[in-house]
Amino acid sequence: MNKKQKRTLIRIILSLILMIIFNIINLSGYIGLVLLLIPYFIVGFDILKKAIFGIFHGEIFDENFLMAVATIGAIFLGEYTEGTAVMLFYQIGELFQSYAVGKSRKNIAALMDIRPDYANIEKDGKIVSVDPEEVEEGTVIVVQPGEKIPIDGVIQKGCSALNTSALTGESLPREVKEGDEVISGCINLSGLLYVKTSKEFGDSTVSKILDLVENSSMKKSKSENFITKFSKYYTPVVCGAALALAVLPPVISVFMGNEPLWSQWIIRALIFLVISCPCALVISIPLSFFGGIGGASSKGILVKGSNYLEALANTKYIVCDKTGTLTKGVFDVTQINPVNDFSEEEVLEAAAYAENYSNHPISKSLRRAYGKEIDSSCVTDTEEISGYGVKAVVNGKKIAVGSIKLMKKVGVPYENFAFDISNPGTEIHVAINDKYAGFILISDVIKDNSKKAVGSLKQLGIKEVVMLTGDNKKSAEFIAEEIGVDVVKSELLPEDKVIEVEKLLNKKTDKEKLAFVGDGINDAPVLSRADLGIAMGALGSDAAIEAADIVLMDDDPMKIAMAMKISAKTLGIVRQNIVFSLTVKFLCLAFGALGFVNMWLAIFADVGVMVIAVLNATRALRYDDNV
Ligand code: ADP
Ligand code: MG
Repeated sequence: MNKKQKRTLIRIILSLILMIIFNIINLSGYIGLVLLLIPYFIVGFDILKKAIFGIFHGEIFDENFLMAVATIGAIFLGEYTEGTAVMLFYQIGELFQSYAVGKSRKNIAALMDIRPDYANIEKDGKIVSVDPEEVEEGTVIVVQPGEKIPIDGVIQKGCSALNTSALTGESLPREVKEGDEVISGCINLSGLLYVKTSKEFGDSTVSKILDLVENSSMKKSKSENFITKFSKYYTPVVCGAALALAVLPPVISVFMGNEPLWSQWIIRALIFLVISCPCALVISIPLSFFGGIGGASSKGILVKGSNYLEALANTKYIVCDKTGTLTKGVFDVTQINPVNDFSEEEVLEAAAYAENYSNHPISKSLRRAYGKEIDSSCVTDTEEISGYGVKAVVNGKKIAVGSIKLMKKVGVPYENFAFDISNPGTEIHVAINDKYAGFILISDVIKDNSKKAVGSLKQLGIKEVVMLTGDNKKSAEFIAEEIGVDVVKSELLPEDKVIEVEKLLNKKTDKEKLAFVGDGINDAPVLSRADLGIAMGALGSDAAIEAADIVLMDDDPMKIAMAMKISAKTLGIVRQNIVFSLTVKFLCLAFGALGFVNMWLAIFADVGVMVIAVLNATRALRYDDNV
């Protein structure tokens, strides 16, 4: 509990004790009256203040106003204890709610905790701490054991284990060594690391994630927008209704020659006001979404807004990219097939050099297979053609590396060579100075969880799981078969993937949503075209974090199903709360108007419903893997 909450708690307890004591002593006359008002003011003064403030600022009809009118009215009619009790329970409800919100914030705060306060740099043999914002790209920073890595970079010296749990929800430490990329926000567990920064702080993973989390509450779900609109009209309407209830029946009675019974009708009107307070909905629905987003983030699933959590619950079509999404995207070279008098070594070297500046998983794998240091100064005029491959000039030689489509595109004659391909895989063709030099066969490995993930998606009611890939038909179909996806489309360029997604978008109904899952490498167009873009393995890929609506920090495809379960649970809670509180409210309002509800029941209808709804909402925060 924070200080403010503790103060409220003390006021509640004090007021409750005084209320009981003064009721037992039960003094008559003015002194008794003043004594009974003391607990009321102790517990309610801030609400009264806010209500008066609201009146002067034109925002009259809020719950403070409702509570102030209802309790002051009750006191004027001599119901001191009831008036105080209404305030008291209202404050208990408020306290409870602020505590619950604080708890959900904690999860998000745990994420916020990834914000580094400083970066160490070495100056004249001494380590000095500086503001991470001031560190330029390419600077070597020193990360000591126990410290957070402040900026993305590459390890220049040292090896260690990193705790990535704040980012991925994964508790196993990750071993890193010289040459490995490291991401800001991870905690260095054991060794001293010298990291050469590859980005500025503002472009580092940590900054991106924090921006994302901070902005996630701006994107409201439909249910939240509904509640905002609802309370705008609702409160004035119930105030009007209460006024009518207080005035009309007595006036009519007078005209009909009966007793007006003013106090009876005014009390009913006040009860009506107490019941009508919409706090249960106003509070519990954003809290549920907040909890859902917080719960997801603790599992390494970042949702950029509650509208996306809502869309995920209605997702019926899932379209996946292959490389890096369903497969590991770490290729092994299984065969090198040189032709035209080139040697194996020459072909691999040309490919590795040309791929020097690319981030594509294929490029990384080719560089890894080559294994030797690449002298970047030899590589110029690099041009990466999305979905085709790369062109570059290496030591004055024109190199093209990529699919057969690329060979066609650059006009290299390759048709005369018979391809003798023994294993399944992806052929990467190489041309040197417009002469076909042969191909490198690389093969990817399916992720451990891909098959299981597709299975759970089906169980969750996904109608179709589609795999789209730029890879060749043979290798695509082999993988699709293994994993069990429903539909596979291969040899697609990035723009063809958009067309395929559009076809599916036309096929489905409006209510059904389509999600695209990719690794963010050359699939930004589809990520943004789909109803919902999910990027996985986002650690280290800015493009993915920016283009996607939901970001899976690690690259486990099971997280797609997990995200769907979290969203379904959250939406379920929201629905329960709406139905439950509206039903209780309207029943009590109707019975209240007819005079069957006393002040105490009214308090339950308001505070009780709110507490139950808030308790229910906090369930959204908790998610265990076997839900
Ligand atoms: P996917 O749809 O599986 O993610 P991409 O669209 O990234 O695949 O690539 C499609 C094909 O284009 C690859 O299978 C490869 O043949 C070729 N390609 C793309 N980028 C590169 C690259 N950087 N180097 C070599 N080949 C590439
Ligand atoms: Mg891809």
